[in-house]
Amino acid sequence: MGKGGEVSGDGAKVEEENMAAWLVAVNTLKIQPFRLPPLGPHDVRVRMKAVGICGSDVHHLKTMRCAHFVVKEPMVIGHECAGVIEEVGSEVESLVVGDRVALEPGISCGHCKYCKGGRYNLCRSMRFFGSPPVNGSLANQVVHPANLCFRLPENVSLEEGAMCEPLSVGIHACRRASVGPETNVLIMGAGPIGLVTMLAARAFGAPRIIMVDVDSYRLSVAKSLGAEDFVKVSTNSQWTISPHAYGVSIGSSNPTLSSFSTNSLYHWTHNVGSTTINRGAARVTFAKVAFEFSQRIVSRIRNTD
Ligand SMILES: [Zn+2]
Ligand SMILES: [Zn+2]
Repeated sequence: MGKGGEVSGDGAKVEEENMAAWLVAVNTLKIQPFRLPPLGPHDVRVRMKAVGICGSDVHHLKTMRCAHFVVKEPMVIGHECAGVIEEVGSEVESLVVGDRVALEPGISCGHCKYCKGGRYNLCRSMRFFGSPPVNGSLANQVVHPANLCFRLPENVSLEEGAMCEPLSVGIHACRRASVGPETNVLIMGAGPIGLVTMLAARAFGAPRIIMVDVDSYRLSVAKSLGAEDFVKVSTNSQWTISPHAYGVSIGSSNPTLSSFSTNSLYHWTHNVGSTTINRGAARVTFAKVAFEFSQRIVSRIRNTD
C-alpha cells in the first residue's frame, strides 16, 4: 500500500490505512483495517468506487452462512464491484493507472479440467470475493489479477460497472437456455437477479416474459422494466401444478415429485444437480426444465386470457 497515500503539507507521503467492511457476527459489520496482499507482477491495485449488495452478502450478514459456505472468521464482504486502477504490477500491459474497471470476482485455478475446458466458472478451487474464507471487495482498495479487471467504456458508469457481475448471471442463464425470439420465458423471482435475467432475455429477443414473485413491489418494478405478465404467489399456499399437465417430463430420478410448488422446482433441480448429474450439466437441466416449463405456463395463460 505504499502508493496511493495522500500528500501532506510538507510533501511527504502519508501512509493510508486501507479500510473494509468486516462481517464479524450475525448482523454486525465493522469498518476495520484490511491489509492488502503485496502487489504481484500480474496484479493491479484498484480503488473501489461502487460495490453492490448481493443476496449472498445479505445471507452472510443475517446468518453467517450462504448455502454450504459458513463464515467462521471475520470476513470482508462484497463482490459486485468496480473501481479505478491506482497501481499496476510490473508485468501488466493491458491496463494503466486511471483506468475504470469492472472486476470479475472469482479467481479460478487455471489448470483443472473445467478451467482448461473454458468453463472456469465451475472451478472447484475458485477463490471468490466475499465467499468464506476469501475476503471480498467492500473496501477502499483491493489487489486483484489484472486479467480479471475489465476496462469500462466511457458511457458506462462505475455503478453500472459494479452490476456487470449480476448481469452476467442473467446473460449466462439465457445462453444456456438458448433464449431467442421464439422463446417465451418464465422467471421465478423478481429480485435483482430475476430482473437482470429479464433484461437479458429481452435483449436476447424473448417475445414474452412472465415474472413470478411473492412481493407486489418487486413485480411492479419488473413491470416498469417491461415484463408482460405476472404471477403473484403466496408463501403459504402451495402453487401446485401437475408437471404432466404441462407436458414436462421430470424423469425417473425423482419419482416422488408429482407436483410443483413455488419451492419444489428449485429443490428438485438442486437435488438432481447434486446427486445424479455432473457439475455444470445440472445447470443445463435446470435451465431446460425451467424454460420448457415456462412455455407450458405461457401457453396456459394465453389460453385463459
Ligand atoms: Zn452476487
Ligand atoms: Zn480450475
